[in-house]
Amino acid sequence: MTELVYILMGSNLGDREHNLASAMKHIGALEGIEIVAVSSIYQSDPIGMKDSGPDFLNQVVKCEYQFLPSELLDSLEKIEVSLGRTDKGSRLSRTIDLDVLLFGSQVIDTPRITVPQKDLLKRPFALVPLLQIDPDFVHPVTKKPLAGYLSAASRHTVTLYKDYVSREV
Ligand code: ADP
Ligand code: MG
Repeated sequence: MTELVYILMGSNLGDREHNLASAMKHIGALEGIEIVAVSSIYQSDPIGMKDSGPDFLNQVVKCEYQFLPSELLDSLEKIEVSLGRTDKGSRLSRTIDLDVLLFGSQVIDTPRITVPQKDLLKRPFALVPLLQIDPDFVHPVTKKPLAGYLSAASRHTVTLYKDYVSREV
């Protein structure tokens, strides 16, 4: 049995575009995973960070995944480390951040993992790329369309950086 999972990739340090492409390659190479859709790359100001780093680039990857949420998180953290992430939990600029936004309709709240990701509904930089892939997505807990959580004002904090279809993979 597989679950549909949405992974948010973020980078605001180093060669940000390269970091996203490299992370996606690593994700696609994981055991038990198949990438089924990828959003464009979006740019937004850093929010809630301790340092004044460059803008974030974000991109969402939609996958089919065979194993457990904790196993996915383990794999994503290994990819983060292999791409130079050293500052877990510190809210500093980072080469790559890989967050599990949704894991099917599962609701999990443990110290290790929370899905749906706790800030998903408050974060336009997560909602915009996810909605590009699935405009009619319904939130598994609130049962409301995800698009309803994006105001016009918050939508404009996120700008298109690079259209995925125009990108060489
Ligand atoms: P953030 O992504 O909030 O900037 P980190 O990447 O440093 O912060 O992760 C902090 C912790 O968040 C991790 O140790 C991880 O266990 C936890 N976490 C909880 N839920 C999730 C999730 N859905 N996806 C990724 N990490 C999560
Ligand atoms: Mg993270």
